[in-house]
Amino acid sequence: MTGEGVLSALRSRLAEAAIRHALGLDYSLDELPSGVRRIAADAVRSVAARLVEDGGASLRCGLCGRGPFTRRGLYLHLKRVHSAAIEAMIGEEVSHRLWSLRYADVLVEAAGSGGVEHAH
Ligand SMILES: [Zn+2]
Repeated sequence: MTGEGVLSALRSRLAEAAIRHALGLDYSLDELPSGVRRIAADAVRSVAARLVEDGGASLRCGLCGRGPFTRRGLYLHLKRVHSAAIEAMIGEEVSHRLWSLRYADVLVEAAGSGGVEHAH
């Protein structure tokens, strides 16, 4: 599998997880490698928070405002109407977090080499 294939499979898995998280349904990220699991869980939570407008007893779509829906109705609506948008949101969240991590590594390395320069 190419890198892009892996990423696109991951995006669709995480989009499903975000929809389930938003609706309080069970999902699991346990099969992901532990290194990406935390990033994936953060991205899922962050996207899930934008998918539902909670108006008390009724559920509305957080992306287009349609509703009210039952839990199942909103699940199906998000899957049918917004799955591509949700995958894109997940993709952004994950790359943003991965990029921040890499950037943090670079900063640590830079700080480390700076320290060596001062140590003579
Ligand atoms: Zn909608």
